[in-house]
Amino acid sequence: MHIYPSYYNDFKCIASRCKHNCCIGWEIDIDESTMEFYNSVSGDFGQRLKDNINHLDIPYFKLSSDERCPFLNDKNLCDIIMTLGEKHLCDICTEHPRFHNALPDRIESGLGLCCEEAARIILSQKEKVTLLNSKSTDDQILILRDKIIDTLQNRDKTIENRIEDMLSLCDTSLSKRPISLYCDLLLSLERMDEKWGELLNMLKENADAIDFERFDQFMKDRTHEYEQVLVYLIYRHFANSPDTQEALKRARFSAFSYEILRALGAVIYYKTGDFDFEAHVELLRLFSSEIEYSDENLYTLFDTI
Ligand code: SF4
Repeated sequence: MHIYPSYYNDFKCIASRCKHNCCIGWEIDIDESTMEFYNSVSGDFGQRLKDNINHLDIPYFKLSSDERCPFLNDKNLCDIIMTLGEKHLCDICTEHPRFHNALPDRIESGLGLCCEEAARIILSQKEKVTLLNSKSTDDQILILRDKIIDTLQNRDKTIENRIEDMLSLCDTSLSKRPISLYCDLLLSLERMDEKWGELLNMLKENADAIDFERFDQFMKDRTHEYEQVLVYLIYRHFANSPDTQEALKRARFSAFSYEILRALGAVIYYKTGDFDFEAHVELLRLFSSEIEYSDENLYTLFDTI
């Protein structure tokens, strides 16, 4: 059984139009069968492949001094696609930004928020997102997960009330701490992009001055954006927990993520007088790259929140 959200097939990489190309800043591992093929390529391009791959236990593309994939050309297009064809991309490049969770009776797939185009697609869903091909199950974590998604999509309630309902369904709570302590926790984690640290410091310095009610009023016609983020986080992280206790941590992580994303949105609004759709996309991209795409950061938060 292959489950995916209703927007899943809408994704198409925007390549050279992407502001934060995923071929910059990430070391990409190459799977075995693609590596075998690359080893068989002859001529100048074969030599270029050999020169630009680190042949360690798990081979990966060597990044240039400005952190670009060596096959990303100056028009921000991929020379492997242009020379060998898209079917010869390695698994990671082919799949990104899709994720797949292998559960006992199903594969659940989705789009990851670390890609700006995926974030745009997810945030722009105005209707409740449905999971396609979903069938009834007797797996208790999945049953609870589906109830949580229904709760988060209950548009008769505020986002905060929906989160409270989610936590009480899980018989847990999020201990409220001052926003500056949340910032300290996030600032103590491994950092990929200095912009993330600057944003957290800006929030920490201005936390007491922000008028959150004014920000909530500004966002009142865009609560579906927060709903989509919460549904995404629960869909992506809850059901692949090894046990119920771990799943509850992930519900708390989702509630925490909302708190911090709302506060970061509020500080951007406080400092610039605006927080438009594209600013929200960029915030989510940054959050996801820093937190969701670092196992170390993600599991530290699961265990600390
Ligand atoms: S981040 Fe997304 S849109 Fe940008 S190049 Fe990568 S896959 Fe394409």
